[in-house]
Amino acid sequence: MLCRLCSSFYIEEESFENLFNFDSICENCKIKYEPKLNFEIIPIDLGEIHYYYLYENIKLNLSQSDILDKYLDIIYRELINQKNNYGLVVFLDDNLLNNIIDLKIISSNYTKTFLFSLERKELLYQDIF
Ligand SMILES: [Zn+2]
Repeated sequence: MLCRLCSSFYIEEESFENLFNFDSICENCKIKYEPKLNFEIIPIDLGEIHYYYLYENIKLNLSQSDILDKYLDIIYRELINQKNNYGLVVFLDDNLLNNIIDLKIISSNYTKTFLFSLERKELLYQDIF
């Protein structure tokens, strides 16, 4: 098979378990891109932003993000498991990052905001607060 992330060929043993699994990710990439839930608290004037992401030191391109988006369910489950009643839930993508002033305007009305992205985005806190 051809790995969708690194484009290398690999052999996967066929079994009933992976018969309908079309992930096509090699073992090396499964290890390299194993998602890990990370968490930061960003204090703001009247509350805080809880920032969740899965990849800390990896810069993902658009194609990789499309493939790894499936792991966002880890964050969705975390959001459901936490019964903290967030006032606002925001997905941080490149578009929002480029217009970070929008986040400042939106989150200023809430004391607790749940912010998440696939990879860690470098937030310039002085732009938000
Ligand atoms: Zn690979």
